[in-house]
Amino acid sequence: MLQHNNILGPYKGGLRYHSDVSMDEIKALSLLMTVKNAVVDIPFGGGKGGIRVDPKSLTEAELEELTREFTRQLAKHIGPQKDVPAPDVNTNSRIMSWIVDEYSKVTGKQSLGVVTGKPIDQGGSEGRTEATGYGGTYTLLTILHYLNKNPQGLTVAIQGFGNVGQFAAQSLQENGFTIVAVSDSRGGIYVPTGLPAIESIKNCKGKKGNISECYCIDNECGLENKEKVGGTDITSEELLTLPVDILVPAALENVINEQNAEKIKAKIILEMANGPTTNKAEEILNKKGVLIIPDVLANSGGVATSYYEWHQNMNNEHWPKKEVLAKLKGKMEKATSDVYLLHKKYNVSLRQAAYMTALQRIHNKLNKKEQAAKGS
Ligand code: NAD
Repeated sequence: MLQHNNILGPYKGGLRYHSDVSMDEIKALSLLMTVKNAVVDIPFGGGKGGIRVDPKSLTEAELEELTREFTRQLAKHIGPQKDVPAPDVNTNSRIMSWIVDEYSKVTGKQSLGVVTGKPIDQGGSEGRTEATGYGGTYTLLTILHYLNKNPQGLTVAIQGFGNVGQFAAQSLQENGFTIVAVSDSRGGIYVPTGLPAIESIKNCKGKKGNISECYCIDNECGLENKEKVGGTDITSEELLTLPVDILVPAALENVINEQNAEKIKAKIILEMANGPTTNKAEEILNKKGVLIIPDVLANSGGVATSYYEWHQNMNNEHWPKKEVLAKLKGKMEKATSDVYLLHKKYNVSLRQAAYMTALQRIHNKLNKKEQAAKGS
């Protein structure tokens, strides 16, 4: 577990269970959380935790006992005002509710705010599931507004069709973008004239287990429709270099790299995954004039909504989904505007502008704290 910075508020970041977890990885991810939380302007610092274990090798009872023992060991270091973990790779709302329960036993009082990402009936927030995908859409719309561009007629390819990819696809489509390609770990589909309602593809993937056969006409999906809709099977790698306006990596890190950067045709990349673009690829893309909307901004809608969950817990409230998503929209628009204006003012990349925004917020808060300390 690594507590990187708490100038803006309690440490906040995910807790992952994975056999490859290392301290170096946790350090890097905790720094990213400090930046992300500051960019989206929530009162949290950055932290991250992990256990080096393959959770699939454990029984349910062993997983629960591991989580409860971890919580007992960490109880002194976590808490609603200290460090607020959340789900990450291989951890979920069930694991979060074990942590709440064990932490509450150790401290002797019920503390829902010790973690976020809880089940809704146990203190979780409405809208958290959709938040990261929707947040990316709000960010993209704000950037397009500054570029005087309209979503109508803009084509989008999305790599990854999990939590983030599905909700991004759905909300982008609802806002007038034409989604032409989606993929998951087993491959993807490309329909240049545009995919039908994302809901039908979601249902199809639910039934068939993957996207590759999901050529849909009015909710009837299957390979038999491929020719009728003018579709082509693609690999997830091929998706990255399709002739589209906007590319949305929403699966894995480092997928946009030296090998494929030159071939990318999109003019905008919306980084919904964490770290999808390598440094070398970014240099190449910057030279080509591709606008990269960085992960620390584009996918910060998830942690912003985690903050709303914590806020509701601390104030004994439960907000309806509509209210959560309206707040999220305002938050993403403001964060994106702040970053975009700095990008223009100093002629730096959006990523550099996002880091500058974050450091400025941390610096301002530190100054305020120092002033207050002097005054007291
Ligand atoms: P998820 O596990 O729900 O979905 C991942 C998707 O990626 C799945 O559809 C999987 O099939 C697909 N995938 C895996 N390998 C692939 C490959 N080689 N090519 C194409 N697709 C592949 O995960 P998620 O929650 O949607 O997270 C996706 C990314 O977004 C991750 O980088 C994650 O760190 C980041 N992220 C997620 C959140 C969140 O709130 N869930 C917040 C911030 C960042």
